[in-house]
Amino acid sequence: MSSDALASSPPPPASAAKLADIPLQTLYALLAPVTLRAGDSRATFTNWGLSYTCTPLSVFEPATEEQCSLILELARREGKTVRVAGIGHSPSDLACTTDFMLRTTRLNRVLEVDAEKHLVAAQAGVILSVLHDELARHGLAMRNLGSISDQTLGGVVTTATHGSGMQYPVLSMDVKALVLLLADGSRVRCSREENPDLFLASICGLGSTGLILEITLEVEPAFRLKEIQESHTFDDVVGNLDSIAHAAEHVRLWWFPHADVVRVSSSNRTSEPRKPVGTWLWHSVLGYHVLQFLLFLGRYVPALNLWIGRFMAWLVRDRTVTVDDSHRVFNIDCKYPQFTTEWAVSYEHAQACLRELRTWLEREFADPAGLRPHSSIEIRFSAPDDIWLSPSYDQRTCWIGLVQFKPYGLNVPYRKLFAHFETIMLKYGGKPHWAKSHPLGPAELRALYPRFDDFVRVLAAVDPAGLFRNPYVQRHIYGSTDAAAGARVFKKMP
Ligand SMILES: Cc1cc2nc3c(=O)[nH]c(=O)nc-3n(C[C@H](O)[C@H](O)[C@H](O)COP(=O)(O)OP(=O)(O)OC[C@H]3O[C@@H](n4cnc5c(N)ncnc54)[C@H](O)[C@@H]3O)c2cc1C
Repeated sequence: MSSDALASSPPPPASAAKLADIPLQTLYALLAPVTLRAGDSRATFTNWGLSYTCTPLSVFEPATEEQCSLILELARREGKTVRVAGIGHSPSDLACTTDFMLRTTRLNRVLEVDAEKHLVAAQAGVILSVLHDELARHGLAMRNLGSISDQTLGGVVTTATHGSGMQYPVLSMDVKALVLLLADGSRVRCSREENPDLFLASICGLGSTGLILEITLEVEPAFRLKEIQESHTFDDVVGNLDSIAHAAEHVRLWWFPHADVVRVSSSNRTSEPRKPVGTWLWHSVLGYHVLQFLLFLGRYVPALNLWIGRFMAWLVRDRTVTVDDSHRVFNIDCKYPQFTTEWAVSYEHAQACLRELRTWLEREFADPAGLRPHSSIEIRFSAPDDIWLSPSYDQRTCWIGLVQFKPYGLNVPYRKLFAHFETIMLKYGGKPHWAKSHPLGPAELRALYPRFDDFVRVLAAVDPAGLFRNPYVQRHIYGSTDAAAGARVFKKMP
């Protein structure tokens, strides 16, 4: 392996040579304890949203780095690819494969917490909620979060998962160092100082630079957030977007276009005592079960979805004030399985983009046969970063996302709605969230990402044979038109 990508990398470890000497049957025997049997329900992989599924040739759940090395050795020998999978929360086929899948379920230990330096080192398979508990024991917390804490740290890092806040970049910016197992079997450390190209490619690397074994993350002293939620009209919010987006550390918006209402959530760090939001029984019954049943009816009578959207806006109409531990405020209930699309537009274009979305949706609502989004459109913000494939690369970003719920896990129409939404996002230079399905190929992505070719160069250096390339990567990064890399290969059918 040549290249600047690994300027100071150590030579492949001696054990790599020894691995090649292991007879095939011995490899199988060594891996048998961590190979899921064909009948095991986890041998089939389905994402959280119930929108993509795959049955890999073999699924491994290694518990040690040595076992990871053996899996890569077997793949090299048998000419198979390896897809690392976290917990399967990506709403796309990003984690899907028909070859080998390496699940990080058992690579989930918190390795070291340095409370003084505010650093934590953990294996990449650790689930964020587990990490929160461990950090809390040391008086620490993650600086920012997305809507949930069910993902693995590795999954969050490789997709540049984001929360919201004009001064807060994507979560990958808190990563200080990684330890990777590369395609040739070498174990490499990278950071901004050590192998910086590999680092900047890997902290939004789509699982294609190598298996991330360890992640060192910068955190901060544990904190509580005070969140105020209020509903306003679309014009009030979008007309004053700049002052609203900057009015608190973490601002996010849920726009119910059916009701012309935007729910504004503004959170700041506080030392006030905890005051968790009340969960009234009627609220959770209405807000979950009744809503799901209505969405089920909406499958058959789509016009109902307009009223369901208004009902949702009505359910959350009151002003609320919550004070709680940071992760409890950052996280929300994402309800049911869903189809999801989310795009990053430059903050400078946010107002115009939102207004064009409104014009489009008003047209749809005026048409009895028009398209009907199920829920609110979520609007969030992030600060610029320098991560090669981050949608926030070098720009203040406004994230705009849309979901269509799958009541009781059943399919609903979403393609036309998403296609129209995407057309507007593209018009404003939007970049898709990598974890979510999107139609862009390398030509479009190269035009959107000035460091796209640097990313491809690093992949060529660290993984020339494409050991870590799955159909998603083949399709979007390499432009494969091969049927096996098609966008619908892993689609979950009703
Ligand atoms: C309900 C819900 C809410 C969400 N909220 C947000 C949000 O608020 N903000 C946001 O930005 N995103 C959000 N997401 C997206 C989510 O954060 C990402 O999809 C994340 O990647 C999921 O992590 P995972 O562990 O499930 O990874 P998976 O989906 O299993 O894998 C994702 C990618 O990570 C790679 N990967 C995982 N572990 C490793 C490793 N150890 N080494 C190398 N590659 C690895 C995989 O190869 C794959 O490419 C949400 C998703 C859901 C379902």
